[in-house]
Amino acid sequence: MSTFFSPLLADLAPYVPGEQPQDRAYVKLNTNESPYPPPPGVAWALSGREVEDLRLYPDPAAKALKAALARQYGVGEDQVFVGNGSDEVLDFAFLAYATDGRGVAFPDITYGFYPVFAALHRVEARAIPLREGFRLAVEDYARLSRTIVIANPNAPTGLALRRDEVEQVVRANPDSVVVIDEAYVDFGAESAVPLVARYGNLLVVQTFSKSRSMAGARLGYAIGCPALIRDLATIQFSTNPYNVSRTALRAGEQALAEQAYFDDNCRKIQETRAYTKAALEALGFFCTDSRANFLFARHPRLAGEALYRGLKERGVLVRWFDSPRIRDFNRITIGTRPQMDLLLEKVRELL
Ligand SMILES: *Cc1c(COP(=O)(O)O)cnc(C)c1O
Repeated sequence: MSTFFSPLLADLAPYVPGEQPQDRAYVKLNTNESPYPPPPGVAWALSGREVEDLRLYPDPAAKALKAALARQYGVGEDQVFVGNGSDEVLDFAFLAYATDGRGVAFPDITYGFYPVFAALHRVEARAIPLREGFRLAVEDYARLSRTIVIANPNAPTGLALRRDEVEQVVRANPDSVVVIDEAYVDFGAESAVPLVARYGNLLVVQTFSKSRSMAGARLGYAIGCPALIRDLATIQFSTNPYNVSRTALRAGEQALAEQAYFDDNCRKIQETRAYTKAALEALGFFCTDSRANFLFARHPRLAGEALYRGLKERGVLVRWFDSPRIRDFNRITIGTRPQMDLLLEKVRELL
């Protein structure tokens, strides 16, 4: 830290992303990327004319992509916000809805970026302990008078709330914004998007990074009532009006047009998840009931760190969190079936 760095941010501990090693080829099962490429149309959508047009700024209102998302989700175009990854959308939401002194609340075990956004914006954060078995009890989220952020399915546990449980939280906090981060919802959970029409305090955040195979494009979005969406636009136009690149906008529109390819990939990931879970359980692992594109697994005789390190030496990267309640576990992204067979082979060696 230089002597010029704001003392107000002296305690900021930045988010530590999963390893993105550039030195050797790993089987990468550590950052929940899709093992499948973007749909075939994305390649031609990004060639020719699109390359020439890179000299031009993108549409800061992202009208075409918002229209496509609005059609996809059956909402109005004024109910969609588009950001540079859902991380940016979440960042804007913390800034817009929690810096008035009310603070935020989220589970003690969840996406590691939430406490970082809170620290960055100097918002007081309350971590609400998950119950036994990492269960989120909706009664713990009644009348908090704080902005609430819930990843559903949660990360890294993979456990999901039903839509009626999300609705209970939204109803129990009419004076606060409830942000539901649905980064993994396409892998078998219930989306809260249908509730948006009825609740002005619900913001649903999704991303193209996981189920739509475009983590590298940096494209996320939020769906909420028009007033909330205007708030996010106010932050966008006060930060970086051209927050989403032309390339990402175009790729996103094309990806949405290839729905069958997307559905097929989500189905394959769910099948491979069930296959891998059964195989790990047969080896003595406990796995949570994950609705995401990863498993959260622990073995009674193999420490979480030992499994992580042993797999890394053998060319397979998974994610281990050195954090009290979860250090016995590893989070294992679902890849292709051959990738998971390789993982299982290396796990058997280590056992
Ligand atoms: C991956 C992830 C994100 C970030 O996604 P981007 O759109 O790539 O920024 C947000 N929330 C959760 C819970 C995630 O796991």
